[in-house]
Amino acid sequence: MNADCIFCKIVNDQMPSARVYDDAQAIAFLDIAPVAKGHVLVIPRSHYDPITATPDEILAHLISVVKRVAAAQVDALGANGINVSQANGRCAGQVVPHIHFHVIPRFDGGADHEKWTSKRYTDTHEMESFAKNIRAALK
Ligand code: 5GP
Ligand code: ZN
Repeated sequence: MNADCIFCKIVNDQMPSARVYDDAQAIAFLDIAPVAKGHVLVIPRSHYDPITATPDEILAHLISVVKRVAAAQVDALGANGINVSQANGRCAGQVVPHIHFHVIPRFDGGADHEKWTSKRYTDTHEMESFAKNIRAALK
Protein backbone atom coordinates (compact mmCIF):
# COMPACT_ATOMS: atom_id res chain seq x y z
CA MET A 1 0.00 0.00 0.00
CA ASN A 2 1.31 3.39 -1.03
CA ALA A 3 -0.42 6.05 1.09
CA ASP A 4 -0.31 8.65 -1.71
CA CYS A 5 -1.68 6.33 -4.42
CA ILE A 6 -5.30 6.71 -5.50
CA PHE A 7 -5.40 3.18 -6.92
CA CYS A 8 -4.13 1.74 -3.60
CA LYS A 9 -6.98 3.68 -1.93
CA ILE A 10 -9.45 2.11 -4.38
CA VAL A 11 -8.04 -1.37 -3.61
CA ASN A 12 -8.51 -0.73 0.11
CA ASP A 13 -12.00 0.78 -0.27
CA GLN A 14 -10.78 4.15 1.00
CA MET A 15 -12.10 5.57 -2.27
CA PRO A 16 -15.23 4.46 -4.11
CA SER A 17 -15.08 2.72 -7.48
CA ALA A 18 -17.45 0.87 -9.79
CA ARG A 19 -15.79 -2.49 -9.31
CA VAL A 20 -16.46 -5.21 -11.86
CA TYR A 21 -14.06 -7.95 -10.71
CA ASP A 22 -11.77 -8.86 -7.84
CA ASP A 23 -9.64 -11.77 -6.68
CA ALA A 24 -6.69 -12.31 -4.34
CA GLN A 25 -4.19 -10.52 -6.60
CA ALA A 26 -6.13 -8.11 -8.81
CA ILE A 27 -9.17 -5.88 -9.10
CA ALA A 28 -10.93 -4.31 -12.08
CA PHE A 29 -13.15 -1.21 -12.06
CA LEU A 30 -14.58 1.35 -14.45
CA ASP A 31 -12.34 4.24 -15.50
CA ILE A 32 -13.89 7.45 -14.14
CA ALA A 33 -13.27 9.24 -17.46
CA PRO A 34 -13.91 6.52 -20.04
CA VAL A 35 -12.57 6.61 -23.57
CA ALA A 36 -15.70 4.55 -24.33
CA LYS A 37 -18.47 3.63 -21.88
CA GLY A 38 -17.51 0.37 -20.17
CA HIS A 39 -13.76 1.23 -20.20
CA VAL A 40 -12.19 -0.89 -17.44
CA LEU A 41 -8.91 -0.61 -15.53
CA VAL A 42 -7.24 -3.83 -14.34
CA ILE A 43 -4.73 -3.38 -11.50
CA PRO A 44 -2.81 -5.52 -9.00
CA ARG A 45 -3.83 -5.23 -5.34
CA SER A 46 -0.16 -4.62 -4.49
CA HIS A 47 1.49 -1.38 -5.55
CA TYR A 48 3.90 -1.98 -8.46
CA ASP A 49 5.15 0.46 -11.07
CA PRO A 50 6.35 0.58 -13.81
CA ILE A 51 5.95 -2.61 -15.89
CA THR A 52 9.71 -3.29 -15.71
CA ALA A 53 9.48 -3.49 -11.88
CA THR A 54 6.37 -5.70 -11.82
CA PRO A 55 6.93 -9.44 -11.18
CA ASP A 56 6.26 -11.72 -14.16
CA GLU A 57 3.67 -13.77 -12.25
CA ILE A 58 1.68 -10.62 -11.41
CA LEU A 59 1.80 -9.50 -15.05
CA ALA A 60 0.70 -12.94 -16.22
CA HIS A 61 -2.25 -12.82 -13.84
CA LEU A 62 -3.20 -9.27 -14.83
CA ILE A 63 -3.28 -10.17 -18.53
CA SER A 64 -5.50 -13.16 -17.78
CA VAL A 65 -7.92 -10.79 -16.01
CA VAL A 66 -7.70 -8.40 -19.00
CA LYS A 67 -8.76 -11.31 -21.22
CA ARG A 68 -11.76 -12.12 -19.00
CA VAL A 69 -12.83 -8.47 -18.88
CA ALA A 70 -12.55 -8.21 -22.68
CA ALA A 71 -14.76 -11.29 -23.07
CA ALA A 72 -17.30 -9.75 -20.68
CA GLN A 73 -17.31 -6.49 -22.68
CA VAL A 74 -18.11 -8.51 -25.80
CA ASP A 75 -20.82 -10.53 -24.04
CA ALA A 76 -22.41 -7.80 -21.93
CA LEU A 77 -21.90 -4.66 -24.03
CA GLY A 78 -21.82 -6.15 -27.52
CA ALA A 79 -18.32 -4.77 -28.13
CA ASN A 80 -17.06 -5.54 -31.64
CA GLY A 81 -13.43 -4.93 -30.71
CA ILE A 82 -11.22 -4.17 -27.71
CA ASN A 83 -8.18 -1.95 -27.19
CA VAL A 84 -5.73 -2.93 -24.43
CA SER A 85 -3.25 -0.26 -23.41
CA GLN A 86 -0.73 0.23 -20.63
CA ALA A 87 1.38 3.38 -20.10
CA ASN A 88 4.67 3.77 -18.23
CA GLY A 89 5.97 7.24 -17.43
CA ARG A 90 4.67 10.74 -18.04
CA CYS A 91 6.08 10.91 -21.56
CA ALA A 92 3.99 7.81 -22.34
CA GLY A 93 0.85 9.50 -21.02
CA GLN A 94 0.77 7.79 -17.62
CA VAL A 95 -1.02 9.78 -14.94
CA VAL A 96 -1.48 7.24 -12.12
CA PRO A 97 1.80 5.51 -11.15
CA HIS A 98 0.31 2.15 -10.07
CA ILE A 99 0.51 -0.33 -12.95
CA HIS A 100 -2.79 -0.71 -14.78
CA PHE A 101 -4.15 -2.05 -18.03
CA HIS A 102 -6.86 -0.14 -19.85
CA VAL A 103 -9.45 -2.45 -21.45
CA ILE A 104 -11.55 -0.36 -23.85
CA PRO A 105 -14.61 -1.72 -25.68
CA ARG A 106 -14.96 -0.58 -29.31
CA PHE A 107 -18.02 -0.64 -31.54
CA ASP A 108 -18.49 -0.94 -35.29
CA GLY A 109 -19.27 2.40 -36.84
CA GLY A 110 -17.61 4.28 -33.98
CA ALA A 111 -15.28 6.98 -35.27
CA ASP A 112 -13.35 7.28 -32.05
CA HIS A 113 -10.96 4.34 -32.32
CA GLU A 114 -7.49 4.84 -30.95
CA LYS A 115 -5.32 6.86 -33.29
CA TRP A 116 -1.59 6.32 -33.72
CA THR A 117 0.56 8.82 -35.57
CA SER A 118 2.90 6.74 -37.70
CA LYS A 119 6.49 7.86 -38.21
CA ARG A 120 9.02 6.68 -40.79
CA TYR A 121 12.60 5.56 -40.36
CA THR A 122 15.03 7.59 -42.48
CA ASP A 123 16.12 4.38 -44.22
CA THR A 124 16.61 0.66 -43.58
CA HIS A 125 20.02 1.34 -41.96
CA GLU A 126 18.44 3.50 -39.27
CA MET A 127 15.73 0.87 -38.77
CA GLU A 128 18.33 -1.91 -38.46
CA SER A 129 20.35 0.12 -35.95
CA PHE A 130 17.28 0.42 -33.67
CA ALA A 131 16.65 -3.33 -34.06
CA LYS A 132 20.32 -4.11 -33.31
CA ASN A 133 20.33 -2.07 -30.08
CA ILE A 134 17.10 -3.60 -28.75
CA ARG A 135 18.16 -7.13 -29.80
CA ALA A 136 21.45 -6.73 -27.90
CA ALA A 137 19.65 -5.57 -24.74
CA LEU A 138 17.29 -8.57 -24.95
CA LYS A 139 20.16 -11.10 -24.80
P1 5GP B 1 -3.03 6.52 -17.19
O1 5GP B 1 -3.09 7.82 -17.95
O2 5GP B 1 -2.20 6.64 -15.95
O3 5GP B 1 -2.65 5.35 -18.07
O4 5GP B 1 -4.53 6.24 -16.78
C1 5GP B 1 -5.07 6.56 -15.54
C2 5GP B 1 -6.57 6.43 -15.66
O5 5GP B 1 -7.13 6.45 -14.37
C3 5GP B 1 -7.23 7.57 -16.45
O6 5GP B 1 -7.88 7.05 -17.61
C4 5GP B 1 -8.19 8.20 -15.47
O7 5GP B 1 -9.43 8.56 -16.04
C5 5GP B 1 -8.37 7.11 -14.42
N1 5GP B 1 -8.60 7.61 -13.07
C6 5GP B 1 -7.90 8.59 -12.43
N2 5GP B 1 -8.38 8.76 -11.20
C7 5GP B 1 -9.39 7.88 -11.04
C8 5GP B 1 -10.28 7.58 -9.94
O8 5GP B 1 -10.23 8.17 -8.86
N3 5GP B 1 -11.21 6.60 -10.16
C9 5GP B 1 -11.28 5.92 -11.35
N4 5GP B 1 -12.23 4.99 -11.44
N5 5GP B 1 -10.46 6.17 -12.39
C10 5GP B 1 -9.52 7.14 -12.24
ZN1 ZN C 1 -0.80 2.07 -5.59
